[in-house]
Amino acid sequence: SMILNVENLVKQYSDGTLALNGINIKINQGEFVAVIGPSGAGKSTLLRCINRLVNSTGGSINFMGNKVEDANKPVLRNIRANIGMIFQHYNLVERASVLENVLHGRLGYMNSLSGMFNRYPEVDKKNAIKWLEKLGLENEMYKRADELSGGQKQRVGVCRALTQDPNLILADEPIASLDPNSSNIVMESIYNNCKEMNIACLVNLHQVEIAQKYATRIIGIKGGEVIFDGDVNQLDESI
Ligand code: ADP
Ligand code: ADP
Repeated sequence: SMILNVENLVKQYSDGTLALNGINIKINQGEFVAVIGPSGAGKSTLLRCINRLVNSTGGSINFMGNKVEDANKPVLRNIRANIGMIFQHYNLVERASVLENVLHGRLGYMNSLSGMFNRYPEVDKKNAIKWLEKLGLENEMYKRADELSGGQKQRVGVCRALTQDPNLILADEPIASLDPNSSNIVMESIYNNCKEMNIACLVNLHQVEIAQKYATRIIGIKGGEVIFDGDVNQLDESI
């Protein structure tokens, strides 16, 4: 079943840059889709529009029956709770512990940290610890985020997204800052857990080979437009 419907999506930044010029994408539950394209193509803007980290300027986005652009605060909170985000630069709170970072999912990590940790119910902590163990971070959970390697930080990013129990994961160049070995571990952890949990995933990648290794469907974006959307085997050289 379809969980995300992006129709004629347009984003013009306030400086006039037309980053998205009429994007149409439908995503089904559990689909693992790679978004590829050159730097500046609009990949990051697309992902950020879907949970409204960036406000679109035209078209519509329907996520599980809700119009993202029309969502009021509680609806938007609900949409974001259902979408796990993974960023290139991890977006961890560096001075907080790994466990606190994971508990601060649902974009709550953007807000102030003070006093928040103790307010998490035991059931949430248990769930966070379960995911940390699953991702091999059980020995890191009480360390501060700034003590970790890049690969470990991104595993925390993956863990934070999964702990939300989302229907959709948006991963914006999750391995662009990592060495090949860490890249493999991170991609495997995103892919395997999305498959196991039937989570849909849109992952921005700039390496076509990595996209081909994991995704069956690839969306190619260039100049803010979809120039390819189909099976990985049909990908031609136009991208
Ligand atoms: P990609 O992720 O494919 O590299 P982006 O979505 O980051 O592409 O960028 C698409 C276009 O929008 C580029 O021309 C970029 O410079 C521009 N852009 C991105 N963010 C902003 C912003 N905050 N203000 C103005 N232009 C932006
Ligand atoms: P990160 O990956 O660490 O989030 P980004 O490359 O996405 O960093 O950019 C950081 C900030 O700069 C974002 O808020 C983004 O919207 C903004 N930005 C990116 N490209 C442009 C641009 N061409 N003009 C203006 N702002 C931009």
